[in-house]
Amino acid sequence: CYILGIESSCDDTAAAVINNGTVLSNVVATQKIHEEYGGVVPELASRAHQQNIIPVVDQALRKANIDKNQLSAIAFTRGPGLMGSLLVGTSFSKSLALGLGIPLIDVHHMQAHILAHFIKAKEQTPPNFPFLALTISGGHTQIVKVTDYFTMELLGQTIDDAVGEAFDKSAKILGFPYPGGPLIDKYAQLGNPKAYPFTKPKVSPMDFSFSGLKTAVLYFIEREVKANPNFIAENRNDICASIQYTIVSYLMDKLKNAVKHTGIKEIAIGGGVSANSGIRKALAEAEKKYGWTTHVPRFEYCTDNAAMIAIVGELKYKKELFAETNVVANARMKF
Ligand code: ATP
Ligand code: FE
Repeated sequence: CYILGIESSCDDTAAAVINNGTVLSNVVATQKIHEEYGGVVPELASRAHQQNIIPVVDQALRKANIDKNQLSAIAFTRGPGLMGSLLVGTSFSKSLALGLGIPLIDVHHMQAHILAHFIKAKEQTPPNFPFLALTISGGHTQIVKVTDYFTMELLGQTIDDAVGEAFDKSAKILGFPYPGGPLIDKYAQLGNPKAYPFTKPKVSPMDFSFSGLKTAVLYFIEREVKANPNFIAENRNDICASIQYTIVSYLMDKLKNAVKHTGIKEIAIGGGVSANSGIRKALAEAEKKYGWTTHVPRFEYCTDNAAMIAIVGELKYKKELFAETNVVANARMKF
């Protein structure tokens, strides 16, 4: 069966076609407009989704080399996300499914980030149940216990900023363009991670807090720049390495706590921050040191994409878990 997945929760308009776990097309239109503002502007995102959605879906069908009449179902992101953005994908998907007379399947965006591991791809082996999922992105930071495809328990999450925001806001303080996470990673690889110690915020064992780190970086930079106006330029790599080291070791501390709490050593990460070289290295080390089995999806399935929506669509299609025709977008959708 062919399932069309549609994703529009934030600032990427995406469509993908999947067949038996294999991705036939995976199209993403990333909205450039937000760069000027240093963050996502919801109003502009919604408008761009309206402009992009038809061409993106069209392209996904063409690349998959199928006609819309061959589709078995349409899966779409119902939430969580920005309301104005979700509305575009939701209403488009509803009308298309209705027009074609095929089932509509609603998908939870964060479940999709986790179930992206079940896409069939060369460099990817699916995790075995039960496993722990660490979802790290620009909007979320969560540890989830996954017992089965749709049996998930949220063990911990951020109480303020997401980890991607911690990277991006630190990068902004250093004067890097948005989103600065990948740049911190790039320079971090050339620097000394122990050059500048930042304290890790204290919250409950499996929860996260990142707003304090951002403030710590800000005060530190302000103080140093006052003494030496060239401080950032002269120490860029060491500053980036130190920030990254703090964030990565904090994420690893939380994972260790979750492993201890659950006894589960099968770990799967997801979300845009899983591209980070520091977290990848730390996970590879943990395999040797603690006997964990770790899984990192291909980069295109880490950041927001519709292939992950389509795979969830397919899993739900097989169980006939369809949405009601009056389904509505849910910006604060719970697990
Ligand atoms: P969500 O998925 O929660 O809705 P989002 O769409 O903003 O949020 P993603 O597209 O999954 O999130 O990830 C984007 C985030 O990942 C940005 O904050 C970006 O800086 C960060 N990121 C990407 N690559 C790296 C990297 N190599 N190192 C650190 N951060 C990175
Ligand atoms: Fe996402």
